[in-house]
Amino acid sequence: MKDIVIESAEIVAIGTELLIGQTLNTNSYYLANQLTLLGISSYHQSVVGDNPDRIINTIRAALKRADLVITSGGLGPTADDLTMELVAKAADKELVMDRASKQRISDYFTSIGRTVSDNNWKQAMKPEGALVMPNTNGTAPGAILVFEYEGATKAIVCFPGPPSELRPMFELSLKPWLEERVAYQFEHRFLHMMGIGESSAELELQDLIKSQTNPTIAPYASPGEVCFRITQRIKRNQAEPDLISPVVKEIKKRLGQYIYEDGERTLPEIVLQLLQAKQQTVGFAESCTAGMISSEFGNLPGVSDVFKGSIISYSNQIKRNVLGVSSKILENQGAVSRECAEAMARGARKTLLTDLAISVTGIAGPSGGTKDKPVGLVYLGADYQGQITTEKHLIRGNRERVRTVASLRAFHLAWRCLKEKSDA
Ligand code: AMP
Ligand code: MG
Repeated sequence: MKDIVIESAEIVAIGTELLIGQTLNTNSYYLANQLTLLGISSYHQSVVGDNPDRIINTIRAALKRADLVITSGGLGPTADDLTMELVAKAADKELVMDRASKQRISDYFTSIGRTVSDNNWKQAMKPEGALVMPNTNGTAPGAILVFEYEGATKAIVCFPGPPSELRPMFELSLKPWLEERVAYQFEHRFLHMMGIGESSAELELQDLIKSQTNPTIAPYASPGEVCFRITQRIKRNQAEPDLISPVVKEIKKRLGQYIYEDGERTLPEIVLQLLQAKQQTVGFAESCTAGMISSEFGNLPGVSDVFKGSIISYSNQIKRNVLGVSSKILENQGAVSRECAEAMARGARKTLLTDLAISVTGIAGPSGGTKDKPVGLVYLGADYQGQITTEKHLIRGNRERVRTVASLRAFHLAWRCLKEKSDA
C-alpha cells in the first residue's frame, strides 16, 4: 500500500438514527478529540443518513478537502449497512473478501454457539488493498485504505458504529498507524484555574496568546473553571527544545494564585491525594447539592481511606437535629446564610469525627429566590481541625449548573484548606 503523510482529517458519521436525534453522535466527538491530541487538523465534519447517493457524495466531498476521511457506522450485516461497499465505490476499488476476517467471523459465531447467517459474510468484505482493523468487541472489522484520488494520496478509514467497538479499535489499530504518519507531533500541557472568569484570564494573557504561534495557548472553559491548553508542535521524530515550560512559567507568574492544577487531575482527585498524603479524613454536609459532592468523591478509587461519610441535610429539621444548627440561626439568618454554613460545617465535623468537614447551603432554583437571597446564592463552610472558613458565592445559571458549580467550589474550598496548612 502506498504511504501517506496526514495533516488533515474529516469525520463522516453515517446513520439515519443520528439525523433524527435517536442516537447521540458520540463517535464524532470522540474521534475529533483524538485527532486533536494527535495534532491532525479538522476543518469540516458531516453526518449523513443511510442513503447510498448521499453517502458517496459526502465521502467524495470530504476526500477533496482532507488527507484522511474517517467514517463511522454502516458496517453491520443488514441491508442498510452500506459503508464498505460505498467506500470501495468512492475509491474506485473492487470489494473483495478478506480471508482472515472470514475466519474470525466464523470463530466468533462458533464461540457463542451460533451458526453464521449468510448476511454476516458481508462483514468480511473490504475494498481491495485495504488494511483490516480487527474488532475485539464485535463482528464488523474496520478498514484502512490508502489510494490515489484526483492526483493526490488519500486515506479512508471505516469504523463500526457502536462506540464500544470503535474506541478500542481506534486505540489498538488506528492510533498507532496514525502516529507513524502524522506530519507533526503535539505536546500538550493543561493549566486549570478557578476563581477567575475566562475573559479576565484571557485578558491577562492577551499579549502571550496573540504573539505565540508555537507553542499556542488556547483557553477553554467548563462550568465553574477556566483551563488553558498550551501546545507545542514538533516535527515527527525530531528532538526539539521544550518551548512549553517558559510559557507555563510566565502564566504562573501572572495567574498563579488561581491555578489549582498543572496537569490533568480533577479537583476531587487533588483533594483525595492531599488527604491521603496527610492521612486525614473528610466528610460533607450537603443541603442544595443533596449528595452530589459525596457521589463525585465516592466515584474515585481509594476514597475509603479518607472519606468517612456525609449528611444530606436538606431540611431545617436535619440541619437542627443532626448537625446542631441552632433554631436561632435558622429563624434569624435563615438556612441559606453564612452562619448556617458555619454551623453545618462544625456540626458535620463533630458528628462525622473528621479532620475536615465541608458544608454547602444555597438556593438552586428555579423557585425560592428573593431579592435579598436570589437563586444561585450559595454559602460554603469549612471546619478544618477547628479552623473555620465560610464563603459566599453567586452562581449564575439553571438548577443543574448551580448545583454542579457549588460542588466544584466545595472541592476548591477543601483544596485550599488542605493546601494552606501543608504550605505553612
Ligand atoms: P451501525 O454500525 O451503523 O450498524 O451502527 C450500530 C449502532 O452504533 C447504532 O445503532 C448506534 O447505536 C451506534 N452508533 C452508530 N453511529 C454512532 C455515532 N456516530 N455515535 C454513537 N453511536 C453510534
Ligand atoms: Mg447504521
